[in-house]
Amino acid sequence: MQLSELNDYIGRLLEISRFRDYSPNGVQVEGRAEIRRIATGVTASQRLLEAATAWGADAIIVHHGYFWRNEDATVTGIKKRRISHLLQHDVSLLAYHLPLDAHAELGNNAQLALRLGLLPQGRFGEQDIAWHGELRLPQTLGQFAENISEALQRTPLVIGEKAHMLRRIAWCSGGAQSYFEQAVALGVDAFLTGEISEQNVHVAEETGIAFIAAGHHATERYGVQALGAHLAQRFNIEHRFFDMDNPV
Ligand SMILES: [Zn+2]
Repeated sequence: MQLSELNDYIGRLLEISRFRDYSPNGVQVEGRAEIRRIATGVTASQRLLEAATAWGADAIIVHHGYFWRNEDATVTGIKKRRISHLLQHDVSLLAYHLPLDAHAELGNNAQLALRLGLLPQGRFGEQDIAWHGELRLPQTLGQFAENISEALQRTPLVIGEKAHMLRRIAWCSGGAQSYFEQAVALGVDAFLTGEISEQNVHVAEETGIAFIAAGHHATERYGVQALGAHLAQRFNIEHRFFDMDNPV
């Protein structure tokens, strides 16, 4: 398919015009027009670019692309090396940030819910990207932590009483630790996100609401993967997800 067709299709699918975002959604670096192979990954790091171009990708789709608001606008240092790698290989970079967190089926939070047995009931947070709902099977915090380890292949950092029974959960992939107080106000038993900050520990201890940091990378692997699988099924293109391990 054509790059312009791919860009238009994903833009409509993820409703990118609905979001006020911190970086451009869609094509960020333009490569060749004809797309047969799409690589996906969480972050457009040098490691991902090299793995994807070695595989022969025509386009790379990520959750964390480039040109973030407030970043240095010059193309120097690691940014120069990354962009010149793409341009030399004539490979496009497409990035989808908030629209890929939020999408009702393909989004990070929807995909996380499928893997962790969470039944979505509503949304909250900035532009409604965070979700709340119930555990399919009520379980203790300790059991839920074990299930998360198994599902995400990464041990979460958990603040709370292991024996505490959980029923209602709020969750948001990535670095959404600043939503913890909003989650507490919703009356949930636990909040799950990727990263944790120092003050979250005190709020968890003093409210009795558990905080689960399951990994920024680990919680954001699934949206872009689901998008790639959807594109491969819908169009005659090959897709491969590259999981470039990240401990955070
Ligand atoms: Zn993120």
